[in-house]
Amino acid sequence: MYLSTVKSGIKVFKWLRATLHSCLPDSLCYLCQQPAAAQVCRTCEHDCLYFNYPVVPANLLQWPPIKKGLTRGYYSSVYACGYYQWPLNQLVKQFKTGHPQLAQTLAEWFVRYAWSSEAPLPGCILPVPTSAWRFARRRYHQTLLLANAIGQKLSVPVYTDWASRGSLQRKQQLLGRQARLNNLTQAYTLSETSLPSRVAILDDVVTTGATAATLSKMLKAANPDIQIDLWAIAITPSKPDSAALVPGSIRKLRMKLPN
Ligand SMILES: [Zn+2]
Repeated sequence: MYLSTVKSGIKVFKWLRATLHSCLPDSLCYLCQQPAAAQVCRTCEHDCLYFNYPVVPANLLQWPPIKKGLTRGYYSSVYACGYYQWPLNQLVKQFKTGHPQLAQTLAEWFVRYAWSSEAPLPGCILPVPTSAWRFARRRYHQTLLLANAIGQKLSVPVYTDWASRGSLQRKQQLLGRQARLNNLTQAYTLSETSLPSRVAILDDVVTTGATAATLSKMLKAANPDIQIDLWAIAITPSKPDSAALVPGSIRKLRMKLPN
């Protein structure tokens, strides 16, 4: 009885907190809650840690600590803003739990801190598909929103129906590495959409790279000559390396990026 009262109290508190936050105007920074002209204020953006270019190559697949931690796939490059840690993880979590408007800020950060203008642009962006169950729960497809926002900034089209995702046959946590990959392969279905010769798979966060490995393998099997890039907002490090990161203010200075 006591436990159920506490549980319903927590539910009400979470609902109130989410409702209050969704009512906040964008003039309050999502991270420090101070008045700001953007969704995230300049101070928070500049304090956030991004990959330390050029110490870390823009193509993160050329950086052994990242490469070692990822499941091998048919993607030839990886671009991301930084490790999946505070405050990037906080922003991504908020984006995925009721704040789809953050796609704009995350897309801006991707273009500003992850993308290299020297890299070849893909012919299209392929957002990682979501399952019907997740879509019904979240009520938006977060990687599609991100893809649209990034695509608009880089003038790259987004292919929405290139693949679909069913439910996983078995829980991933209970399976070994190879069984996990087989399980993922069964979850995705490629459509017959014809694709350009270079594509970018986009995910919000890359953890083991198993999803990208699976999808890239399927793409390669259907289109043997295709070049595949992997784009993400953040990467979960297998072994975090503090030398790999630098505050946004310094990185921006080095890159001489526009405001
Ligand atoms: Zn702030």
